[in-house]
Amino acid sequence: RAKAAGRNRARFFEPEMAVATRERMTLETSLRPALARGEFELHYQPRIDLRDMSVLGMEALIRWNHPERGRVSPQQFIPIAEETGLIVQIGRWVLEEACVQTRRLIDELGRTICVSVNVSARQLAHQTFVDEVRQVLLDTGLPPACLELELTESALIDDIERTAHMLRELHELGVKLAVDDFGTGYSGLAYLRSFPIDVLKLDRSFVLQHDERISAFDFVKAFVDMAHALKMSVVAEGVETLDVVEFLRSAACDEAQGYYFARPMPLGELRSLLANEACGAGGHAGLATISS
Ligand code: C2E
Ligand code: MG
Ligand code: MG
Ligand code: MG
Repeated sequence: RAKAAGRNRARFFEPEMAVATRERMTLETSLRPALARGEFELHYQPRIDLRDMSVLGMEALIRWNHPERGRVSPQQFIPIAEETGLIVQIGRWVLEEACVQTRRLIDELGRTICVSVNVSARQLAHQTFVDEVRQVLLDTGLPPACLELELTESALIDDIERTAHMLRELHELGVKLAVDDFGTGYSGLAYLRSFPIDVLKLDRSFVLQHDERISAFDFVKAFVDMAHALKMSVVAEGVETLDVVEFLRSAACDEAQGYYFARPMPLGELRSLLANEACGAGGHAGLATISS
């Protein structure tokens, strides 16, 4: 691609690109053995029901504790894992770990709690994916309705026929299907009707639009109404302030997730948070305890 841009330009960009490439290769080299070395861990970000501010579930987010660099962001290593195909093994680990830990939480707390797991296009493209999900549910005994798979719009646009078939199979297992980062891709609601989608996760950028114009409220409200008519529920991502919470509540958005409520946290912290909530600190009190 650099060549097509002309020799001079290619030479101009070379040093910078070389550095980026070397950096990538170094990361890739340490990413390969990371799974076997137990360097991954899951953090969980609570998802809040906007009607009563209770915690309904959480999203599992992978963390990589690199032996020399410390924490490496998934935004940095997930793309590498996707390109190299390592995401298939890593993703399987995430799915298993999330189901095992959630099953244990349900037993400890004596109440239902749901976990959302991010699934990349490359995993979905794997023939055995549905079997893997079925097997993990059997092995862990996690009720299928407690598992939600988050897919991106871009994962849904390649090979629509095959993807639609696969999603129907997953849906028949009883797991929930969500579209992540909605509003950043190209698809509209009508397009999503080809798939058995239960949940739309509105990207932070979509939610923030209300700062621009007052009529943006009507836009989000209309969007939520339409999603509801299509039997989908709506989750707002990246909620950082109280005014966004109020905005979303008046727009009848179902759930929210974001730093305003809680950051992604290790399992132990999530467990105490949920245990405290169960001790009667629900409603707005519960909200206050987790918005530190
Ligand atoms: P995502 O699935 O859209 O996850 C939401 C991201 O937004 C998370 O970043 C979360 O920490 C961050 N976030 C949450 N609340 C707020 C907020 O109020 N404000 C802002 N600015 N950000 C907020 P994180 O954990 O760094 O993950 C980044 C992305 O990496 C994820 O985006 C997801 O696409 C990917 N990812 C993470 N874990 C996995 C995984 O296990 N498998 C796959 N395939 N991808 C993963
Ligand atoms: Mg997600
Ligand atoms: Mg998202
Ligand atoms: Mg996002």
